[in-house]
Amino acid sequence: MHNLTLAELSRELQARRFTSEELTHAYLQRIGRFNPQLNAFITVTQDEALAAARAADARIQRGDAGPLTGVPLAHKDIFCTAGVKTSCGSKMLDNFVSPYDATVVERLKSAGMVMLGKTNMDEFAMGSSNETSFYGPVKNPWDQKRVPGGSSGGSAAAVAARLSPAATGTDTGGSIRQPAALTGLTGIKPTYGRVSRYGMIAFASSLDQAGVLTATAEDAAMLLGVMSGFDPRDSTSVDQPVPDYTAELERPLKGLRIGLPKEFFDRGLNEQVGAAVHAALDVYKKLGAQVHDISLPNFWLSVPTYYVVAPAECSSNLSRYDGVRFGHRCENPVDLLDMYTRSRGEGFGAEVKRRIMTGTYVLSAGYYDAYYLKAQKTRSLIRQDFLQAFSQVDVIMGPSTPTPAFGLGEKTDDPITMYLNDIYANGVNLAGLPGISIPMGFVDNLPVGLQIIGNYFDEARLLCVAHSYQKETDWHRRMPPGFS
Ligand code: GLN
Repeated sequence: MHNLTLAELSRELQARRFTSEELTHAYLQRIGRFNPQLNAFITVTQDEALAAARAADARIQRGDAGPLTGVPLAHKDIFCTAGVKTSCGSKMLDNFVSPYDATVVERLKSAGMVMLGKTNMDEFAMGSSNETSFYGPVKNPWDQKRVPGGSSGGSAAAVAARLSPAATGTDTGGSIRQPAALTGLTGIKPTYGRVSRYGMIAFASSLDQAGVLTATAEDAAMLLGVMSGFDPRDSTSVDQPVPDYTAELERPLKGLRIGLPKEFFDRGLNEQVGAAVHAALDVYKKLGAQVHDISLPNFWLSVPTYYVVAPAECSSNLSRYDGVRFGHRCENPVDLLDMYTRSRGEGFGAEVKRRIMTGTYVLSAGYYDAYYLKAQKTRSLIRQDFLQAFSQVDVIMGPSTPTPAFGLGEKTDDPITMYLNDIYANGVNLAGLPGISIPMGFVDNLPVGLQIIGNYFDEARLLCVAHSYQKETDWHRRMPPGFS
């Protein structure tokens, strides 16, 4: 059963070829067998999952089931789940049990989906390798000496090894697309405002956006249709109708204008990854698309801009963890200041502290204009580049990452090298645009991803463009050896 895509599982469940309870049991068994090596899950909710599966089976019996009823999935441990620990990968929240569900969780639950557990992640979603997690690193199922990417690394490893048919993720600067690329999955980050952030623990609020990691674009379309839409509890949620993403998958590609930014192919890009992008473009040309050379002149500013804006916002968002209202509190504080400083000192890991210090610095009087304000200006330039490009083309394509998965420990001592792994991703978040990564081949036996960037609220087109490629290729069907 685990070889089937989410769409296939949905059809089999509707046809009653197996029950949700049987299916859920099968995934729980795989988690029991493989999770000790991969460390993809922080929490496995076995009893709740089986109970939800039985309830889904009853719905299917009664005939009031939707396409997702009874299908299992995993949630990144950044989404609040009522009654189940939500750690955000941090010691700070190791003891935190949310009293409510995030909107994303609530919507997928109402559709009848069965939560298998909560997946491992970089601490507070800060990282590109899942090595900053308090719960230890996640292994890439394609090569367990390598990282699965981050920060949604647990979600990526879980789906790549088919411990779950799909998982939620969040993407502040690449954290869905980069791990999807490094583990051979489809990962979509929607337009900022498309999916509610309510109940999603905040990292950098003007960049954070929820999405999914799945085997196929068709699977992503099914999930996104349920997750998307206006939520009055999130003031940045946008009130725009949600298209039927599944129905739009089969639109013909003829005449599609693809922009290829020359800046994406500069130094730093692994040559074979570059060649794989060109091979993917040939598939699109065969389908009737035209490729246009374009330029994003301020692309080089995206990583430095991101590393001012994201830390600034995180330093503010993370000030709420003070040992008073929730989260870790130090033992025997002597006074209030001692409690604040020791609780925060003990609760946060090194990368989070680095970001809080950078963020506090760029926001402080005397440095605000030179750094934060300047970054807001360069952010506008980056956004304008994209808008200019979308006046000429329908989508932009390029690599998702400069290289395939790197080794565990390879970049942990050098934050800048680590940050550069998201060079093709950061600008998309700064502009608030949607982006998807899909498997486009292998380099040194490791999966690599094609990134497709769309205009605002053009998720339907991104999914259709991705789906069309997946009908022509079988990269997305490959499974890591040992897990098939
Ligand atoms: N790797 C980037 C960072 O460390 C992006 C993280 C994310 O998208 N959550 O900030």
